[in-house]
Amino acid sequence: MTGLDIPRRKTIAPGQLLIDGHWRDGASGETTTTSDPTTEEVITTIAKASAEEAGEAVEAARRAFEDGPWGRMHHEERAKILFRVADLLDERADDFAVREAMDMGMPYHDFRDTIMPFCSGLFRFHGALAMSALDGSYRTSYERDIRILTRREPLGVVAAITPFNFPLTLSVSKIAPALAAGNTIVHKPASDTPLTALALGRVMLDAGLPDGAYNLVTGGGGTIGDALVRDPRIDKIAFTGSTAVGQGIMRSGAETMKHLTMELGGKSPNIIFADADIDAAVQAAFWGIFWNKGEVCVAGSRLLVERTCYDEVVEKLSRLAEKAVLGDPLDPATQVGPIASRAEYDKVLGYVEQGKQTARLTAGGGTRRINGTGLFIEPTVFADATNDIAISREEIFGPVLPVIPFDDEEDAIRIAIDTPYGLASGIQTGDLGRGLRLADRIKAGTVWLNTWHKYHPNAPFGGYKMSGYGREQGREAWESYTQYKSIWANLN
Ligand code: NAD
Repeated sequence: MTGLDIPRRKTIAPGQLLIDGHWRDGASGETTTTSDPTTEEVITTIAKASAEEAGEAVEAARRAFEDGPWGRMHHEERAKILFRVADLLDERADDFAVREAMDMGMPYHDFRDTIMPFCSGLFRFHGALAMSALDGSYRTSYERDIRILTRREPLGVVAAITPFNFPLTLSVSKIAPALAAGNTIVHKPASDTPLTALALGRVMLDAGLPDGAYNLVTGGGGTIGDALVRDPRIDKIAFTGSTAVGQGIMRSGAETMKHLTMELGGKSPNIIFADADIDAAVQAAFWGIFWNKGEVCVAGSRLLVERTCYDEVVEKLSRLAEKAVLGDPLDPATQVGPIASRAEYDKVLGYVEQGKQTARLTAGGGTRRINGTGLFIEPTVFADATNDIAISREEIFGPVLPVIPFDDEEDAIRIAIDTPYGLASGIQTGDLGRGLRLADRIKAGTVWLNTWHKYHPNAPFGGYKMSGYGREQGREAWESYTQYKSIWANLN
């Protein structure tokens, strides 16, 4: 991209609800607003659904599953529609990237060049599975004349409840496999960042998805999110969000025996050994924590560094952090955008203050304004941290990194797994054997060796321990939206 075609902020129409294939305002007329964290101005208004309207969306999804074309459609037809969704996402990548930059503060280029291909890739990957994988088997039993036919079936209606960060990715990670397996959807995005969900709703209709197969309801988690979790007509809750809200959903969902996928918080350790390529390891540590300004569930948010290279790593990382380009996410030069909302900004700054009391600040620690506005927090590094202080134990969800020294492999593993979470981890070492050996011992759903932030539609992703359970992406995600039926046939 040249300086001439820098993307611009755009006017976004007020957000409506999408129920049974039709856009409409909320019946009460109540709305909320969504704001741009760079300009701190309101972008547009967003309809606020009531619990009753969430129920209408569930009813539409139920009909589309039980009686409508989606539940009964041949899987090749379904796949064709999902491939069209993928193509439309690619065609409209600019619009999506501008929306995410304005709504969540993610640099436009990061979104266009990495997130969008991943999202359209998820629809292609799961569309291909839809063509091939509604598998079953033909088995025998004790008796000669009995045959058992097993058949994989969709679950029914899925509620996708998604967080404020990576709003499109974490929506598509649920919606693509669920639709591919023949389920229908009610989607509730986070109140702070609904703009790409609204664009996704349009894509769904334009791709020819039948009425009711995908429904979008915007509004509060405590009202419509909770109503969806408790609704007996919903078969599965696919949730990404905080561990505390996830636990509440598990409790409420138990009433109606919901299938659940829980993608929750993290405090992921990144371990640097002295035998690593130190410059490359520092790059991995930098992007591991500061990509999307640390508002990433799998951020490498605890850096463990072998004592013999500790000073060198702290020095190089701190200088890199100081040089990071903060700015408008629509500016191609920007590496680090603003924090997505005022509430998150205040929360992160609270941790920065705690860090100043409990560790040694070596970079950042302050805020910035760009052209007089914006919720910018400097990439912040705290050296000489221990693993028992709040900034090392709690999920900060911002650009703040404690750096903890360790003595040897055993010490590194002990500190790495001393956390309630288990989402991601990384090992930077010149000894691949050591990397693989330690990868076996880390309790986390993802281990990155000599890298960070690698994703592919084919690679299962999810948590251990308090980071949740179930997997997104890969065939494993698709399977989690299906269930088996055994049909016993007496041949006589
Ligand atoms: P959150 O838990 O506050 O909200 C997530 C979603 O749940 C939102 O749509 C919200 O409206 C809804 N919600 C809130 N209360 C609800 C209730 N009682 N019933 C039903 N729904 C309810 O999370 P957030 O602040 O939007 O996102 C940040 C969190 O998400 C972090 O903890 C982060 O680690 C986690 N996260 C995890 C992953 C992962 O893949 N594991 C990915 C991204 C974010």
